[in-house]
Amino acid sequence: MSAPAMQVPLLDLKPQYRVLKSEILTALEQVCDSQAFILGPTVKQLEAEVAAYSGCSHGVGMSSGTDALLAALMALGIGAGDGVITTPYTFFATAGTIVRVGARPVFVDIDPGTYNLSISELEKFLNHECKREGATLAHKASGVRLKAIMPVHLYGQMVDMTPLMALATEFGLRVIEDAAQAIGSADGQGRRACSIGDIGCVSFFPTKNLGAFGDAGMCVTNDAQLAAKLAMIRVHGMEPKYYHQLVGGNFRIDALQAAVLVVKLKHLDTWSRARQENACFYFGAFGKAELTRVISLPEALTGARHIYNQFIIRSPKRDALRMYLSARGVGSEIYYPVPLHRQQCFAYLGYAEGAFPESERAAAETVALPIFPELTREQLQYVVDVIAEFYA
Ligand SMILES: *Cc1c(COP(=O)(O)O)cnc(C)c1O
Repeated sequence: MSAPAMQVPLLDLKPQYRVLKSEILTALEQVCDSQAFILGPTVKQLEAEVAAYSGCSHGVGMSSGTDALLAALMALGIGAGDGVITTPYTFFATAGTIVRVGARPVFVDIDPGTYNLSISELEKFLNHECKREGATLAHKASGVRLKAIMPVHLYGQMVDMTPLMALATEFGLRVIEDAAQAIGSADGQGRRACSIGDIGCVSFFPTKNLGAFGDAGMCVTNDAQLAAKLAMIRVHGMEPKYYHQLVGGNFRIDALQAAVLVVKLKHLDTWSRARQENACFYFGAFGKAELTRVISLPEALTGARHIYNQFIIRSPKRDALRMYLSARGVGSEIYYPVPLHRQQCFAYLGYAEGAFPESERAAAETVALPIFPELTREQLQYVVDVIAEFYA
């Protein structure tokens, strides 16, 4: 085969860097000149700005999205003997952090259209697989005390939080929003991701919509007491200096990363809009090519703000389609090929194959297409044309 007519990478961060290079290097230079690398004014500024952007009053910068989740679980006092309800169709960190605090991840299947935690499955689970024992809610099968729900706003679209919060209140559960892929997304009432549960966690991993130059993350909350506890957990539970009230960790965000993120945050709305426009182009072009009979496009809830960290299509011929795309210069990725209940390290949880059929089907059929802001119309059309060619 001859060389592809076009190259369309899944993600290219260089065009974004080219535009902001001098501004970012100046910001980095200021931190270097100060030689103050740990916390400090730039971190404070980023925390205030990300909190406000997320509709929250407090932000606590963390070393990664993973550490933000870990600190959130610790701040809510979740540990041995406890269970946390979440989705098996997510990045590993969601369940990995639950296990690291000594608790048990308890999975509930996803909705096949949005790929987010299914509210009807959650309701069924709470009503039929749990029982109240005094003030606690026990998971019948494992015996753990259920303490919290960790919904994941996957691919940049929020979980339907209104019924989720009603269930959380009814059953006495705390809520940690895993908004690693969803900074700035909003629900139908305009409420931002992270502003609804007890604590929201974002990631600034370079491939997220707001990416640092390495690892970084943040917890945001409207609860001043939780914010103070998170700030303490981030520095080994230390307050005042060398007096430890609890056992935390070193979960600090770097001042250098904060400096990069303060520059980038100003552009986040523009980038999210460009991603939405790219998604809109795909919807139109896939429709025009009459491909919606053979592939499923992502379900975007009306009135909500989807920030398209990923644009996911579903095809029963996914693996062959990916090879075809790759041979023609189009990047793609599978998020995620193995649902968490089927991961080797979680075999002890005892979930059989078929336990969560929608998560398993999604893992077998979905593929992410290029959606990053700087893609041209020609590149997007080329992706659609290649997929049309595959099906012709
Ligand atoms: C990226 C991601 C995380 C972890 O964030 P890191 O910053 O990479 O540690 C957690 N949950 C989800 C859903 C993610 O996509």
